[in-house]
Amino acid sequence: MPLSNQKLIIITAPSGAGKTSITRFLLNKYPRLSFSISAATRKPRAGEQDGVQYHFLSEEQFRAKIEAGEFVEWEMVYEGSYYGTLKSELQRIWDAGKVPVLDIDVKGAIHIQQQFSGNSLSIFIEPPSVEELKKRLESRGTETAESMATRLSKASYEMSFSHQFNKTIINRDLDLACLETEKAIKEFLGW
Ligand code: 5GP
Repeated sequence: MPLSNQKLIIITAPSGAGKTSITRFLLNKYPRLSFSISAATRKPRAGEQDGVQYHFLSEEQFRAKIEAGEFVEWEMVYEGSYYGTLKSELQRIWDAGKVPVLDIDVKGAIHIQQQFSGNSLSIFIEPPSVEELKKRLESRGTETAESMATRLSKASYEMSFSHQFNKTIINRDLDLACLETEKAIKEFLGW
C-alpha cells in the first residue's frame, strides 16, 4: 500500500514543552499506537538504547540513507545533529496493524503533514511561556548553558508556527494536556 494511504499522528512542540511525556502517556494507554523510532546522529544519553529511543547512526550512515531516499523527512534539528523518520519505520508499524506516533521537531512535522495531509493529525504542544520552558529544561538537567540557549531561541521561533498544525494544545497542566490530546486522537481515528 502506498505510504500516503495510511494514518499517522504527529506530535510536535518546542523541546521541553512536554511532548515526550504526552506521547508516553498515549503509548502506555493505547497498544494500537506505536512510537515511530527516528534515526539520529546525536550521542545516546545515559539510559538510552539503540533501537529504543532512536536508531543511533553515524553521520556517514545517516547521509547514505538520505542519498538512498530512505527518509520520509529529515532535519538537522540542532547544529551538527541529524534526525529523521525512516519510511521503513512507518511501514513496520503499519504492517503490525498499528498507528505510528511521531515525536518530531516543528519543521519535520510541517514537511510530513504536507505528504500525508488527509491522513495525518498534527498536534502542536505549546508551553505556557518561554520562561516556563526554561524552568522545565533546567529541572531536566540534560542541557549545558550553550545547548539551553540554542533550545530557547529555537523554541521562541518554533512557537510562531503553531497555527500551521491541525490542533494546538497549551500544556499548563500535564494531565489536562494528556486528556485533550487523547480526545483529539480518538476523534481522528474514530475510536
Ligand atoms: P532529543 O535530542 O532531545 O531527543 O530531540 C531533539 C528534537 O528532535 C526533539 O524536538 C525531537 O522531537 C526531534 N526529533 C526526534 N526525531 C525526529 C525526527 O525523526 N525528525 C525530526 N525532524 N525531528 C525529530
